[in-house]
Amino acid sequence: MHRLGALLTGSPATVRFAGVTGLEGARERRVRTDGVDLCVAELGDPGRPTVVLVHGYPDSKEVWSEVASRLAGRFHVVAYDVRGHGRSTAPRPLRGGFTLEKLTDDFLAVVDAVSPDRPVHLVGHDWGSVQSWEFVTAGRTEGRIASFTSMSGPSLDHFGHWIERRVKRPTPRRVGQLLGQGAKSWYVYLLHTPVLPELAWRGPLGTAWPRLLARLEKVPRDGYPTASLRSDAAHGAWLYRDNVRRRLRSPRADAYAHAPVQLITPLEDAFLSEGLSEDLERWAPRLTRRTLPARHWVPRSRPDQLATWISDFVTSVEAGRPEASATGPYADRFGGQLVLVTGAGSGIGRATALAFAEAGARVLAVDRDAEAAARTAGEARRRGAEGAWAEQADVSDEQAMEKLAERVTTEHGVVDVLVNNAGIGLGGSFFDTTTQDWKRVLDVNLWGVIHGCRLFGKRMAERGQGGHIVNVASAAAFQPSRALPAYGTSKAAVLMLSECLRAELAERGIGVSAICPGFVDTAITSTARFAGADAEEERRLRRRVARLYGVRGYPPQRVAAAVLRAVVRDEAVVPVTVEARTAYVLARWMPGALRLIARVKPPLR
Ligand code: NAD
Repeated sequence: MHRLGALLTGSPATVRFAGVTGLEGARERRVRTDGVDLCVAELGDPGRPTVVLVHGYPDSKEVWSEVASRLAGRFHVVAYDVRGHGRSTAPRPLRGGFTLEKLTDDFLAVVDAVSPDRPVHLVGHDWGSVQSWEFVTAGRTEGRIASFTSMSGPSLDHFGHWIERRVKRPTPRRVGQLLGQGAKSWYVYLLHTPVLPELAWRGPLGTAWPRLLARLEKVPRDGYPTASLRSDAAHGAWLYRDNVRRRLRSPRADAYAHAPVQLITPLEDAFLSEGLSEDLERWAPRLTRRTLPARHWVPRSRPDQLATWISDFVTSVEAGRPEASATGPYADRFGGQLVLVTGAGSGIGRATALAFAEAGARVLAVDRDAEAAARTAGEARRRGAEGAWAEQADVSDEQAMEKLAERVTTEHGVVDVLVNNAGIGLGGSFFDTTTQDWKRVLDVNLWGVIHGCRLFGKRMAERGQGGHIVNVASAAAFQPSRALPAYGTSKAAVLMLSECLRAELAERGIGVSAICPGFVDTAITSTARFAGADAEEERRLRRRVARLYGVRGYPPQRVAAAVLRAVVRDEAVVPVTVEARTAYVLARWMPGALRLIARVKPPLR
């Protein structure tokens, strides 16, 4: 209880550790089973809950080094080389030495050695996940596994039933799924050919693999894969040969998970299609789903996100709450992510922060109005985002933003989604707009976005694990108006900045979206300035505009929904309301019409 208490008192979802590479510093031991010697590495306090990491193909336990180092401050982390891989010995003969039954023997021997009295939290990637599904569905491991986090590796039994159902009861969609997955499994067929895979791996493929991983999988070149790659890959071919055909032909009918499962699906996985897990609740009723925009080798490319999700899941299972608390749309995608929203005290920013909170994100509400930001954070916590908090900052103040970025990074980590939303309204003709007016609107609407992108976006890019930036522009970015020269200019600049940045950051897996709402019913109408108007006239104009926006009645929550959708779909430019969408189409196909509309005097004065 004491240990659990200590675990739970930590910041709920913050998992940040120094960027240690390799499993150096790990304690190593050998575990002997069935004539095979397994190399087992341990990090962290053995008194804490044990997390066992199982690697895939062609990998060794070092594939987990980045994830393990991030988890080791909170858990007892164990990674072992699967038989025939890394520094574990291989069975003799190889044929028949890699059956799922033997791999289960190995797993039980490892957990008996590292955590004899307490069930472990299992995490598997690729073939590590395939075999972990066997562990978590086999009767003899019951009571030894507290939870299972699976990524990119289905149960062969579930896969067998998945195929059977689609063959026996075909629909066009199911046939499409079968063909799609069939095409993605090309390498499985190759691995069943005799000798050739071994020759390829010990020859040219083994040489080219690190380069291929970096180029195709965006795996950072940081000393991974290890020197054992060629023999790992040659031995590991038997994982496929010993199991795949056998299990797919006659899958077990009782392959039900006896522990809660967290399924992490990389959406750009070249080897597995999303549809594979469609029926999974049938086999694993206590299922939490997560998705992330990444390719197959997530332990190398997304260690921060994985460590956060594993940590959250293990912590909630230990606390007796295995189900994910967030239920809103996109909870699978944003749960546990660090999301910063500027101008979160009101309107679109507030609605966006709350929508992310409902999706389970750790929300940071930033506003120059401290009380308004605190109110949003409080409401976010009430809606389930336990880690939500507020910060006061003026986005146009570079030094304040620098301090904010420094503090957030040190205390909470790198922001996963940045929403540069803070903005102010300014109406009035060009000649009524003073230099001061221009400065103010550009300082907030443009420089605020630049500071956000530069300070938080830079850290995102340096981390190298993807992310997303949303800049709230406006339909005024592409719809000229004689009444909005300064505001429109600031928003057009935000739109172009977003497009340029999107091009620059694409290679780093960071998406950039520009959101362009039309008329949205928020408090902006009561704070907007009107150049050239005295105080009395400004009050009258604000009331008038507020009434028009009120009649239009477009709620900020719908813009917030568009923001989340834009991140999930990685959309470049999102005109939100019908008037914004119409203007966007006209700007492209009939710009002359927009220019005529731009000349119309707004019926305000
Ligand atoms: P709002 O006035 O309701 O909210 C804006 C929030 O930003 C406020 O909480 C305010 O305190 C904060 N803010 C303003 N300046 C700031 C600064 N310098 N630093 C930190 N926080 C600051 O307005 P809204 O309608 O929700 O606007 C949000 C964004 O949407 C703005 O960028 C706006 O230009 C844009 N937008 C709004 C509409 C609309 O019709 N409401 C249309 C298109 C675009």
